[in-house]
Amino acid sequence: MEMLQDPESGISLPQKRYYRQRAHSNPIADHCFDYPAHPDDVNWQELYPNLTEGQCVEFADIGCGYGGFLVTLGDMFPDRLAIGLEIRVKVSDYVMDRIKALRILHPGKYNNIACLRTNAMKYLPNYFRKAQLDKMFFLYPDPHFKRAKHKWRIINQALLSEYAYVLRKEGLVYTMTDVEDLHKWIVQHMLQHPLFERLTNEEEISDPITSKLYQSSEEGAKVVRNKGAHFLAIFRRL
Ligand code: SAM
Repeated sequence: MEMLQDPESGISLPQKRYYRQRAHSNPIADHCFDYPAHPDDVNWQELYPNLTEGQCVEFADIGCGYGGFLVTLGDMFPDRLAIGLEIRVKVSDYVMDRIKALRILHPGKYNNIACLRTNAMKYLPNYFRKAQLDKMFFLYPDPHFKRAKHKWRIINQALLSEYAYVLRKEGLVYTMTDVEDLHKWIVQHMLQHPLFERLTNEEEISDPITSKLYQSSEEGAKVVRNKGAHFLAIFRRL
């Protein structure tokens, strides 16, 4: 459970209202991003203060928004490193400030989570080596309803090969959305790809992460508040 304010130091978690930004950022446009030429060029130690020799990021929350699910991953997997990737500058600033505050409020905790501002549709292989990731999360991705904008969807045929590249064998892709049409799109594209298969319903339900996918993230919590529908699908990298 996140403590909101440390009574002694007065340090508190950042407030979202100071970090608002319009909902959509064009993922295909050429924003100015600094990005590493190779994963070894990233200063991982700066992101994870307790990084040990040989340790690397294994979980990636793609389009992490305000970082609620990332914090849950930090709690659930204290010995594994998770990263949130977020394209919107103010939103990624919020997540970075949130993690900084959490580390102060809970000494010794949350050193295993970090956030990067980047375009996950363009730069994944710049940050992750082949077969590095164990889990990728796509929670409530932007639906881009209009047909002309379908190319902006973060799950699409071309990008799936990139996701398969950074995922290790048996690694998992978790997807959750409140938009049924997008869910069908995701399932259709994932199943068309030769390197992914969908988990059975029993496997999906028995995964300890599944129950957290409904409302750990800010978008998920909103769907629960509005009593909306959730569509879950988990895929295995073959
Ligand atoms: N996953 C979060 C949640 O469940 O609360 C946020 C969901 S929000 C609807 C989608 C997020 O993905 C937005 O914060 C958006 O800025 C981010 N996003 C969209 N395209 C992206 C991209 N190409 N790279 C990184 N982040 C992206």
